[in-house]
Amino acid sequence: MLDEVPLYPLAPLVFLAAAGLFLLQMARHLRVFAVARPAVVTDQPDTRLGSMVRFALVQVRMFRDPTAGLMHAAIFWGFVILTIGTLDRVTFGAVHTVVAWPLDGWLWRLLLLVSNVMVVAVLAGVGIALFRRVIVRPRRLTLSRDGLRILLLIGGVVATELLAEAFRLARHGDADAAWAWAANAIAVPLASLSPDVLAAGYAVFFWANIAVVCFFLAYLPRSKHLHIATAFLNTAFRKLTPRGRLPMMDLEAATARFGVKTIADLSWKDLLDGFTCTECGRCQDACPAWATGKPLNPKTMIMGLRELSVEAEAGVPLIPWIKPAAGPANLAAAVAQTPIVGSAIPEDAVWDCVTCGACVEACPVLIEHVDKIVGLRRNLVLEEARFPAELTGAMNAMERHGNPWGQPASARLGWTRGLPFTVPVAADVADAGPDAVAGLEVLYWVGCAAAFDDRNKKVARAFVTCLHAAGVQYAVLGQEESCTGDPARRMGNEYVFQMLAQGNIATLDRYRPKTIVTACPHCFNTLGNEYGQLGGHYEVVHHSAFLSRLVEEGRLRSADPGDPASVAPRTLTYHDSCYLARYNDVIAQPRAVLGAVPGVELREMDKHGRSGFCCGAGGGRMWMEETRGTRINAERTRQALETGAETVATACPFCLVMLKDGLADAGDRAGGVQAQDVAEILAASLAARPERQLPVIQPGAS
Ligand code: SF4
Ligand code: SF4
Repeated sequence: MLDEVPLYPLAPLVFLAAAGLFLLQMARHLRVFAVARPAVVTDQPDTRLGSMVRFALVQVRMFRDPTAGLMHAAIFWGFVILTIGTLDRVTFGAVHTVVAWPLDGWLWRLLLLVSNVMVVAVLAGVGIALFRRVIVRPRRLTLSRDGLRILLLIGGVVATELLAEAFRLARHGDADAAWAWAANAIAVPLASLSPDVLAAGYAVFFWANIAVVCFFLAYLPRSKHLHIATAFLNTAFRKLTPRGRLPMMDLEAATARFGVKTIADLSWKDLLDGFTCTECGRCQDACPAWATGKPLNPKTMIMGLRELSVEAEAGVPLIPWIKPAAGPANLAAAVAQTPIVGSAIPEDAVWDCVTCGACVEACPVLIEHVDKIVGLRRNLVLEEARFPAELTGAMNAMERHGNPWGQPASARLGWTRGLPFTVPVAADVADAGPDAVAGLEVLYWVGCAAAFDDRNKKVARAFVTCLHAAGVQYAVLGQEESCTGDPARRMGNEYVFQMLAQGNIATLDRYRPKTIVTACPHCFNTLGNEYGQLGGHYEVVHHSAFLSRLVEEGRLRSADPGDPASVAPRTLTYHDSCYLARYNDVIAQPRAVLGAVPGVELREMDKHGRSGFCCGAGGGRMWMEETRGTRINAERTRQALETGAETVATACPFCLVMLKDGLADAGDRAGGVQAQDVAEILAASLAARPERQLPVIQPGAS
């Protein structure tokens, strides 16, 4: 049959030439990786392998959208399997010979069957993908020439292979024709054509297939579809440190660049992120800043990083002794040439980010956006002093007073005033002996919001009411507590973060608490996930988890719904804090607390759990004006009101403030709906215990 194809011996040479072009272009990319900063990716090899299988091979995140997931899997797997046919062709049937050898040819028959199923699946997948891109046009997808070209190429590879096989079967037949059922279905009507026409048809589609495959191979390194290969590496080399931990900065290193200015300041793994982006737009879709009309788009930022890499490598010839006529002398200079801010991402967009992590959670190939955005902020803050004016006050207040509200440390215990019991302070407890605080069940880390914000003072009061009711032995640090530094770190001011963290670590190490409990997810994340970078290792529990444990152990009991002591809401919806749910998987515990209140019906918002929608306060945005687009808290309030619940519960002081403001701004639309912390809801429902005096806590009064 091959004898009837003109110039068929040239096929492997053409294929090798295309493969050479592919490798040459990959070499260009690899040069940029070679001058990038190092990244540690050799730890936990089993986890990395598992991650590759889960995210690149099985593509689990793609199936969050079942239609897109099935379509993508069909195209990907079909394309992989059908490549075997092309390899068979360029090796003059060697693949057939090898695969047909064992099991008396059954392996080959099975391959024929599967590949024919996949032919149909790929063609259907390409058809659906083209329809979505060209006709449906979902907002998250970019209608790019590259995307269309690749889809047409994939369709072309498969269609030409199918037709070549159909002409071959029609001309010569095959004992295994029934297994190649799709090609055979086309071959049957073709069989009426003359042998010459069938031979010509085979030759045309043989060469068309080789041409499309070779073009695809040579084109791939310049396309976003390089992710077919890079996704395997990117998912294997993923970040394995806690999701909520930002990279450490060495502030002492005299020669170091502070933060990220150009792609020269990124690691090769960050550059790999760029080359792995599929441009699917899932991060863009999940981003609350983009959803509310801000210029920040995590997708275009990652695409921009890839473009900067490609631009840098394009300016420097591959062969070292060829000097460019103009431009940078070498690649190290080329990558350090263009600032990322202003090219891959507009400067104001850098400050739109609430560091909610929704982009990272949505990305099917595990690209890390947040670390890069904070890296850019670090450079703007620490090297260029370029940041929104509103941040000056909060940064100075943290540096001088140890809290972003700028309140004196002496005011830290103001929230305890009027409680019918005494809140123990660690310094006083320590008078009983050096290990007295370590002997307590928990140290309650109050956090700046609960200490200084009037609305959140009520949450602290409700929480200690629960601790008191459950007979928990605890203490607070009082004046010795400072901001954990979370806002400073996420604003990009690593200097203030490290200063605050070191102070707090010194205090905590003096008391050596068994467990720290906090109602603030930001404190929870920073104390538990980030202080270890500076030598502070603690067991930290969020108050929702601690309360659910007290309920489970029977140490806290809610009154019956009819009991006048209970003022629990009837219907509520729960808003997940990003730093609790997405970053730290604390999802079930606050719901367990709410579930312990009798008569309460929980109505989930569409976006909840790890897919929750930010309140708008993270990443230091609590202290910034939101002047463009819709306010993020207004959008989240709208989503909460859609549930028809009478209370919006949360477990974060910042979320509480944002939702309270959102409900107030909604006016009549809110219909009296209130925002409350889970501790307040539980405390308000507690059965009166004669042996303890509980203060009466009215829901959400502010
Ligand atoms: S962290 Fe949140 S706000 Fe920032 S880019 Fe990602 S999705 Fe958008
Ligand atoms: S960064 Fe991830 S989620 Fe965003 S467009 Fe690229 S592949 Fe899709």
